[in-house]
Amino acid sequence: MSLLQTEAVSCPHCGEVSDVDVVYSVYADRRPDLRQAVLDDSLQRETCPHCGAGFRIEPVLTFLDMSRKLWLLLQPAENLSLWPELEQSARTTFDMAYGQRAMPAAQALAAGLQARVTFGWPALREKVLCTEHALDDVVLELAKLALIRSQPQLRLSDDVELRLTEVGREQLVFCWVNATSELVEDELLVPRQVYDGIAANQKPWAALRSELTAGPFVDVHRLLVPAAD
Ligand SMILES: [Zn+2]
Repeated sequence: MSLLQTEAVSCPHCGEVSDVDVVYSVYADRRPDLRQAVLDDSLQRETCPHCGAGFRIEPVLTFLDMSRKLWLLLQPAENLSLWPELEQSARTTFDMAYGQRAMPAAQALAAGLQARVTFGWPALREKVLCTEHALDDVVLELAKLALIRSQPQLRLSDDVELRLTEVGREQLVFCWVNATSELVEDELLVPRQVYDGIAANQKPWAALRSELTAGPFVDVHRLLVPAAD
């Protein structure tokens, strides 16, 4: 079930308080409009009724799309270094709802459902975009590693991320985006065959693949961002 709650939120620009529907849970099968709002970047984007400024509330939510086999826990981008903790709580929650500790009927319903955790709106949009275009998110992260390796001038940091933003027949569009402000710093057009080549022959990638899939945080940042103390 999707869960939205009306809450009093202060505008980050003028500080005035207004009521906003905050999303805690998206059940995409029943609320395709919320899934679409993830894809068009409008979910939880608000306009302050006092000063007219736009702002977006950082996400803390569960996303479920049974038909496209994605279950995901999402936290604000600034919590990135807490990924081991979020993985642990995802494992527990998922197990009770759909995994070994769930009712047999729920387990059957959830066959093939992929559990993921991620941070920030651009990362959620990327995961949903993968399900939209039937892309394997593990192969996508491997393709990013290939791009970063082959182009040393490309940079990744705690707050600037490489995210898939568009999927075309011939090419994939990636953006260097600030995970919190969502400002795009640069764009990178990548021939689709970079992805297809890795998907077709994953043998050379086996070691990295198993590192990336050691937990539900399937993201190059699990190799790059040390866990917080
Ligand atoms: Zn305001």
